[in-house]
Amino acid sequence: MKISEIYELFENIGVLTFSTIYKGEVHSRAAHFNGFDEEGIYFRTMWNKPFARQLMETEKITVFGISDTRILSHDGESGAEFPPGYSIRLIGEVRFLPEDEIRERAKTNKDLELAVFDMDKYPTMRKGNFIINRAKVEIFDFDFECKNRDHKVLRTRMAFGGMTFNEAGPKITEKCIECGKCYKKCSFKAIEKGTPYRVRPERCDDCGDCITVCPVDAIEISSTF
Ligand code: SF4
Ligand code: SF4
Repeated sequence: MKISEIYELFENIGVLTFSTIYKGEVHSRAAHFNGFDEEGIYFRTMWNKPFARQLMETEKITVFGISDTRILSHDGESGAEFPPGYSIRLIGEVRFLPEDEIRERAKTNKDLELAVFDMDKYPTMRKGNFIINRAKVEIFDFDFECKNRDHKVLRTRMAFGGMTFNEAGPKITEKCIECGKCYKKCSFKAIEKGTPYRVRPERCDDCGDCITVCPVDAIEISSTF
């Protein structure tokens, strides 16, 4: 997956939640991206706003967005029905872009023309441009009614700028005795039979049902992305 495709998925959602951790507290704000290139994804804010100065110091960021998730129905017996859609999250690092650099980049990147316009209109924007140049990203494409495919979740992870990521979902270890209980229990069709059995990360919802039925504690979970 390319940076341009990640950018488009975020852009289709529009306003996103940006967060950083500063002096032990999580700070969030709503914003959107305003361009990309082969180095990364651009966004801007005003320097007078605390979030900009926090980012200059921490250089750490997460961004999250989700498409329309209104509950379509819920009859009290079956679970809630959602329209197909996706969520996308990014964990990464930012670099502050000085005014001169943005003006220079805008000469060859049309997306950044608005950033130049805003810098001319609002002087505090001149110190509010950033690029996310290292990140890992997860797209969680959900179709819980299986209207478009035979499984509910399609999960994709990727990274750019030299960052790395772990596969999603729990791992089945050598302790597996191939009893098949996890295979029967998984409603996401995410477990593959074999020696040992295997979780298919792209289909796994991390619901944890497989762990609860395994008789030999062969399934391990991880806390890292
Ligand atoms: S965590 Fe849930 S979705 Fe993932 S393999 Fe286990 S039962 Fe299936
Ligand atoms: S429930 Fe546990 S032992 Fe049984 S197949 Fe799954 S991982 Fe292997």
